[in-house]
Amino acid sequence: MSTSRTWQCPECGHMEKISYDWLAEHGRPVCGQCDCNMKLQPEASVTADGEVHAVTEPEQYPLRIDHATFRRQRQLLLKITDLAQRHQPYTPRLGDEALLNGLLELTDAIADHARNQHPRSGRRRQ
Ligand SMILES: [Zn+2]
Repeated sequence: MSTSRTWQCPECGHMEKISYDWLAEHGRPVCGQCDCNMKLQPEASVTADGEVHAVTEPEQYPLRIDHATFRRQRQLLLKITDLAQRHQPYTPRLGDEALLNGLLELTDAIADHARNQHPRSGRRRQ
């Protein structure tokens, strides 16, 4: 399955289609022109299960949480956290990548939401 999303540079407006496979390997895309983090465009979103949902309102960042998927994501995080605490290596299993991508999307959505609610606070307190 090759699912891709459109990312846009907030500085120069450069747009790029980036696949999930690429994201899993490289992480968040950086604009080649101005070296800043590109922003995920909300025209469509993909859940951790690979389902594509059309988002009709571009300014909306809905948090769609599928409870069964979310439970699996949380269990995966618990497992990785437990391994990290014991300084054990983590060996990904089939499906982990999709779950982690879903969690990344969720954190992006939360960050976008926070930015929308507090547009003037550029820096958040720790
Ligand atoms: Zn740029």
